[in-house]
Amino acid sequence: MNQSIISGLGNIYSNECLFHAGILPTRISNTLSFYEVKKLVFIIKLVLKSSIKLGGTTIKNFICTNRIFGLFHRNLYVYNRKNKKCYLCNNLIISIIQNKRKSFFCDFCQY
Ligand SMILES: [Zn+2]
Repeated sequence: MNQSIISGLGNIYSNECLFHAGILPTRISNTLSFYEVKKLVFIIKLVLKSSIKLGGTTIKNFICTNRIFGLFHRNLYVYNRKNKKCYLCNNLIISIIQNKRKSFFCDFCQY
């Protein structure tokens, strides 16, 4: 996701939202259908809400100011899971570099 168009959504969430929406990170935005855009917006809101509930994506081991550890990283489906099996289809998660950022995806579940 191009941060100049959709800002404030970090790389981890971008990867996870695209996975849950079934959209490849290599897709050009103007190729998305209206249904895919609506689905992606819905998923972004859902993922951010559940992440906030779980305390964010604290991957390094530190205690947040509210002393709640980030638990969202335990629920990551693709981010930082290169060559690990997709939880849905068992294909291996692929990683590529796009605009100097790593993108992780499953080329079976996302298209
Ligand atoms: Zn998959």
